[in-house]
Amino acid sequence: MLEIGDFRISRVEEVVLDEPVDLFAGLDETIIAQNREWMEPHYYNGERNVLQSMIHVWILRRGDRTIIIDTGGGDDRDRPLSPRFHMQKRHLDRGLIAAGVDPEAVDTVFLTHLHVDHVGWNTKREGDRWVPMFPNARYIMSAKELEARDPERGAASKPPASWNTYLDTVKPVLDAGLVDVVEGTESLGDGLDMVPIPGHAPGMTGLRVRSKGQEAFFITDVMHQPIQILYPEWNSKYCENQDMARETRAKVLKHAADEGALLLPSHFGRPFGGYARRDGGGYRFEPAPDVM
Ligand SMILES: [Zn+2]
Repeated sequence: MLEIGDFRISRVEEVVLDEPVDLFAGLDETIIAQNREWMEPHYYNGERNVLQSMIHVWILRRGDRTIIIDTGGGDDRDRPLSPRFHMQKRHLDRGLIAAGVDPEAVDTVFLTHLHVDHVGWNTKREGDRWVPMFPNARYIMSAKELEARDPERGAASKPPASWNTYLDTVKPVLDAGLVDVVEGTESLGDGLDMVPIPGHAPGMTGLRVRSKGQEAFFITDVMHQPIQILYPEWNSKYCENQDMARETRAKVLKHAADEGALLLPSHFGRPFGGYARRDGGGYRFEPAPDVM
């Protein structure tokens, strides 16, 4: 567990996935070779030449509040377009309970964006229906993200198989009246501020956590791998707006270096986050203390 002032931060792992190095379009593989020493073993497997992508859920607690940040890929999901998330059995639900997270006691589910690997455990199966996994929580979703994923709006022109994520993880919690739709600049309470970080997804939203002079910044998919702190112009092929993703990454890195903020992304391997320190004209990566 990590402490940021009065906040306690922990995580529950769903899975570590092999990620082909073509995650980064136009990647110069000699750069991976030059950085191999520090990237192994948690970010890169040199023997198989694959990056390592963590899927996990962040848990943020203060007093009697329990906030979950994103909900992984989920089990038993029909995801024909995303084989790595199709009909899986990874049991993140059991992992949460083993980590002392009572789903009924979660008050907020903060969804950074609505991609397939971030919303899976919004719901759980009950008979032939999908019902909210966190029945007493408010689910925070960006208006822009909802618009982009809704089959009757932004997603209307996309293949129907791509609508599944919305239909079985987003619609059931909307129908249950549990969603708070946000612009991405609101507060979740004292010391908890949303920050728009668009690009990878149109309404992607980060969460700044500040207490007693310390800051952690949940930046989700602004970066997928720590090598992007050294090479911030590298985008993942999954970034929906490539120029905007670069612009946001530059802003986040400047902020992190200026403020000394601990960056907590969604997919970094152990220790799951770290600092961007100025180095020459750019930045270097300093891993977080290994406490999570
Ligand atoms: Zn992601």
